[in-house]
Amino acid sequence: MIIAIDGPAGAGKSTIARKLAEKLGYGYVDTGAMYRAVTWSALDAGMDLTNEAALGRLAEQSQIDLSDSKILIDGRNVTHEIRLPDVGDAVSIVSSAKGVRACLVAKQRSLADAFGDLVIEGRDIGTVVFPDADIKIFLTASHEARSERRLNELRSKGVEVEAAVIEKELTARDSIDSKRAVSPLAKAKDAHLVDTTNKSIEEVVESIMALVAV
Ligand code: C5P
Repeated sequence: MIIAIDGPAGAGKSTIARKLAEKLGYGYVDTGAMYRAVTWSALDAGMDLTNEAALGRLAEQSQIDLSDSKILIDGRNVTHEIRLPDVGDAVSIVSSAKGVRACLVAKQRSLADAFGDLVIEGRDIGTVVFPDADIKIFLTASHEARSERRLNELRSKGVEVEAAVIEKELTARDSIDSKRAVSPLAKAKDAHLVDTTNKSIEEVVESIMALVAV
């Protein structure tokens, strides 16, 4: 059983997907964390982010480990670093590179083989990575709600940022993610659209659980 959850930043994907996986006893994969880890590595190495071929090679050569709710790349624990604004500002550029996507999509498919039952979230899961997923969900929320969630998420991690900075990051990422040539953010035709603006996490999780039970 594969449950694919897509949607823009701040729609609640990670929290909802993690809770759902916990309740169902399924594996959980945050594909955004994979793109963020490669981005962190590119920034750490001072790479030119316009060099798509080099970014593709970096993704190919990187060992990404997503176990125990930690994110390791080449043995370095970057769980905290990948959430910081410098990675947020660069990730949409890195994830637009064809080679990076080809490599990470292949890794995501092989993770599914390893896990069996899986809740997996991102931007192109229901459209490209698992077009035959058993259940597809597309989460949305108002721009204000998404900015506020992202701000609270960072503050809860001790990162102090101004609301205006987050607003700008979200708008820029939404725009690049939905307009890129390869695998743009889009709702799959057969995905259930869920607006999380005025819903609690529990409510959304329960509504997806009801779909699983059918
Ligand atoms: O999910 P999160 O907001 O952490 O994702 C960070 C970025 O990674 C997105 O803005 C997008 O550029 C990229 N991404 C992607 N495809 C996915 C998951 C994330 O391009 N499946």
